Amino acid sequence: MNKESLRNFSIIAHIDHGKSTLADRLLEETKTLSEKQMKNQVLDSMDLERERGITIKSHPIQMHYKHKDDKSYIFNLIDTPGHVDFTYEVSRSLAACEGALLLVDAAQGVEAQTVSNAYLAIENDLTIIPVINKVDLQSAMIDDVKKQIIELIGCGEEDIILASAKSGEGIDLIFDAIVDRIPPPSDSDNVQQTRALIFDSTYDNYRGAIPYVRVYDGVIKKGMSAKFHAHDEAYEITEVGHFVLKMVETEELKSGDVGYIVASIRDMAHIQPGDTITSNQDPCLEPLPGYKKIKPMVFSGLYPVDGDDYDQLRVALEKLKLNDASLEFIPETSEALGFGFRCGFLGLLHMEIIQERIEREFDLNLITTTPNVIYELLLRDGTTTKINTPSQMPSSGDIDKILEPVVSAEILAPKEYIGAIMRLCQKKRGIYKNTNYLSPEKAQIYYDLPLGEIIFDFYDKLKSLSRGYASLDYEFKEFAPADLKKLEILMHGDGVDALSSICHSDDAYHRGVAMCSKLKELIPRQMFEVAIQASLNGRIIARTTIKALRKNVTAKCYGGDITRKRKLWEKQKKGKKRMKMIGKIEIPQEALLAALQIGED
Ligand code: GDP
Ligand code: MG
Repeated sequence: MNKESLRNFSIIAHIDHGKSTLADRLLEETKTLSEKQMKNQVLDSMDLERERGITIKSHPIQMHYKHKDDKSYIFNLIDTPGHVDFTYEVSRSLAACEGALLLVDAAQGVEAQTVSNAYLAIENDLTIIPVINKVDLQSAMIDDVKKQIIELIGCGEEDIILASAKSGEGIDLIFDAIVDRIPPPSDSDNVQQTRALIFDSTYDNYRGAIPYVRVYDGVIKKGMSAKFHAHDEAYEITEVGHFVLKMVETEELKSGDVGYIVASIRDMAHIQPGDTITSNQDPCLEPLPGYKKIKPMVFSGLYPVDGDDYDQLRVALEKLKLNDASLEFIPETSEALGFGFRCGFLGLLHMEIIQERIEREFDLNLITTTPNVIYELLLRDGTTTKINTPSQMPSSGDIDKILEPVVSAEILAPKEYIGAIMRLCQKKRGIYKNTNYLSPEKAQIYYDLPLGEIIFDFYDKLKSLSRGYASLDYEFKEFAPADLKKLEILMHGDGVDALSSICHSDDAYHRGVAMCSKLKELIPRQMFEVAIQASLNGRIIARTTIKALRKNVTAKCYGGDITRKRKLWEKQKKGKKRMKMIGKIEIPQEALLAALQIGED
């Protein structure tokens, strides 16, 4: 098979526009999977993806296609996620391709991630094939959506394919376009040295870390010694192969190919997405460009509920990082929660997904602290520092200014919702930029918004005020000064690190009061009176008291029945396990969790 018959492409779209369903159709038409293997959204292999109906990881798969010109082609398809948190995942997949199918739902039109993914594809120099999907729907607005696509990528009307991934309509046109419009991998036979880009990886307990690669130059095969650009360790390659739902071994991976490499790599840090693999005997001088690393902006503490699970949590995070290079973590200790990790995420959905994957795939129970963004502090002594947890915040006397991350947000919505959207943005301290029309019906509204305001419930509010029609995309713009303060919760005079947060002055009072009353409700009476206070930059702004109680649970058993007493003692002991000691005070875990959730309102 020569390079002329290879096509590497991705499907990009806003979430729910039908990427995974279209991938199903392509797999079916090319008979890549047997009828028995076929199920809906077959590429969403993680349980979590199937339950939530979203794609989290990009999944590569190879297909053999017989074209009407009677030639055979090999397609390497990479299905990608569509949520703003996973843009990183998309950008890595695109780096391995020459073309992209840009899928737009006929009833929804162009949405925020349609725009951001289309731009990513354009930046990567990919050939874009615009497809309007779901034309079978009653509510399809084909003409309006055509206008939006033309406005977005500047294609001709005749370039747009009308299709239904559900009914199969238009699928043949998509195959034709893949063959005719997407170029084969460019020729690089004159380059001697092997170069392959790592775009993803996974961990196998028996075979070690397995990098997913796109070979750009040369050949990679079994028996070769592989060298990495990022470190000096060499590995002997024991297997290479393609993805046909599972990994399937092949002779070799040639330039233009997409596949995986097995080399008993036990040190997970040795596989870095974006790194170049080359041959040890004849190494390349210049690595491939890789991709720019994006910095996490949302941070939260992750702690095992059972302190003994700390080491397992570390291993879990290391393994997930292989699969998700944007995850960052460093050890952290909390007086209230014990040993854990401060983790950096791309956004709240990303955080939720990581947390759920740890709980499911590694069977660990976790406590997460209220997420916060990263802050930049200008100190009175003239230095600048960045903090990603409230406990790192110096005393207010040392701080000159606090700067918070601000993002440029783009909201796409039918024009009737513009008023409500602007009111919401204003309430979240947004600064209006401008409005643009993609078509007479669809507006693009631009705001600068503090990231700290949109990581919580902004997206849900936006969705509900627009009946699901508005979509959001954003990217980091700058750090800007804001009136931010540290809100602390004191219990019996001691600060509880896990409960402190950095918040805007306008919200601080309300939040402090809410946390104090929630804690009072959920913390049982102790042997002495306990004051719960909220303090803002060291000044007390709220206070509640839990009255003292002499706790003697066996008293009501009136002597006699020893088994009954024992049962009570047992019950008490079990209860204790789920208690955390803070200073002299026993706090039930659920009280901590409930108070942490208030931070998210
Ligand atoms: P993804 O998030 O882009 O991967 O989207 P999915 O493939 O998971 O599809 C989202 C929803 O749209 C699913 O309920 C699909 O059954 C549905 N869907 C996908 N393509 C079509 C289509 O052509 N017509 C109709 N009516 N529904 C479709
Ligand atoms: Mg999907």
